[in-house]
Amino acid sequence: MAIVLGAIADDFTGATDLANNLVRGGMRCVQLIGVPERRLAALVADVEQIDAVVVALKSRSCAAEAAVHDSLRALEWLRGEGARQCFFKYCSTFDSTDEGNIGPVSEALLERLGAPCTVMVPAFPLNGRTVYQGHLFVGDRLLHESGMQHHPLTPMHDADLVRVLARQSRHPVGLLAWQTLARGAEAARERLAELAGRGVRQVICDTLDERDLAVLAEAAVELPLVTGGSGLGQALPAAYRCQGWLAARREAGALAPVSGSAAVLSGSCSQATLAQVDAFLTRYPGFPLDPISLAEGPEHLAQALAFARRHLAGGRPVLIHASAAAERVRRAQQALGRERAGQVVEHALGQLAVALLEEGVGRLVVAGGESAGAVVSALGVRALRIGEQIDPGVPWTQATLDGREAPLTLALKSGNFGGEDFFLRAVESLPGDAARSGNA
Ligand code: ADP
Repeated sequence: MAIVLGAIADDFTGATDLANNLVRGGMRCVQLIGVPERRLAALVADVEQIDAVVVALKSRSCAAEAAVHDSLRALEWLRGEGARQCFFKYCSTFDSTDEGNIGPVSEALLERLGAPCTVMVPAFPLNGRTVYQGHLFVGDRLLHESGMQHHPLTPMHDADLVRVLARQSRHPVGLLAWQTLARGAEAARERLAELAGRGVRQVICDTLDERDLAVLAEAAVELPLVTGGSGLGQALPAAYRCQGWLAARREAGALAPVSGSAAVLSGSCSQATLAQVDAFLTRYPGFPLDPISLAEGPEHLAQALAFARRHLAGGRPVLIHASAAAERVRRAQQALGRERAGQVVEHALGQLAVALLEEGVGRLVVAGGESAGAVVSALGVRALRIGEQIDPGVPWTQATLDGREAPLTLALKSGNFGGEDFFLRAVESLPGDAARSGNA
């Protein structure tokens, strides 16, 4: 069966979030890191078993021109794989500026696809992101009072998304209001057609709850392009099944059997991760990485590796972490500079990942968005098959690596995700355990 959905995500964790929701909706999904040089069949073992592909870009905060260029490359690649519908995924808080990148990218994709119009559905009601009369709410706050007005790269000072998007777009922007949505998918489709007839190319869609998402997915299922947050990804699989494009499936997140020992690498200093580190250390050994010692020479890294080797040989999972409380982070940053401190840690985590695989680690948990990026790139991971979620938004994944027979099982967690016992559960349970115990 051919690829039903080809998605282009504007950042890595957003891509995982979408892929996770697609799997939960019953689609077998692969996440790609950047636009591949090779065809999908060369990247995954079972290409005919894939329903959706999510290409992760880094296009949220770069120059609009570069975002458009990368997104069009991704689109061409996905079209080459036969994707039936294209999905441009951005953040549920519509992270962008007056220069872009949401408007320029979606207009360029529309143009390339020869499509008249698309829906804009950032809402994720399960996470408190809703849209009413085009205004985005985070919980009970309007977007510009939600804390997003202080975002370092994309501060959001306006909650009216029709206005926000119009400032970054060349063509008129419209609204599909809740009052129309409440009359069902047919009424929504008629409204979209009417707006398209008036030259509107992007339509901000109200969304209050899951039911609205389902209506929107049904109304938009035949559009060449849909855009939005990961919430829409939760509703699309059911719409595809209604079309007969997707078979009903219970185990879309099934992965290959896991082999090898387990290790955790953490470069996140978020509150959630610090608590997860503490919880792990109550039961298993851990080695604290010190950025200043790492910068002095190779010895500190060698010690960390020797520590890991010793415990792994004894059959115990280990944690190696640069995660530290604010005071220690500040000290490292004062000594090395903020950027270099980060680079030194990320480089060390990447080297450790490579060395740990050589030691027989087959299941690797990585905490921190940038840290996960560094590890994935050091290992040469290009594609991740998405499994069941361990905690909301964090799925098990598997990567096929050159020169390695069994797939590597990975859990990549961005800073604030996961419960306090996340690391413990990730080393003590296996992908598929939740399904087997009926908790998926
Ligand atoms: P999060 O997802 O929590 O933001 P990231 O990995 O994206 O985590 O970012 C954390 C950054 O902090 C990384 O660049 C990492 O290298 C850096 N870092 C981690 N530990 C330390 C430390 N002890 N001192 C200074 N910088 C650190």
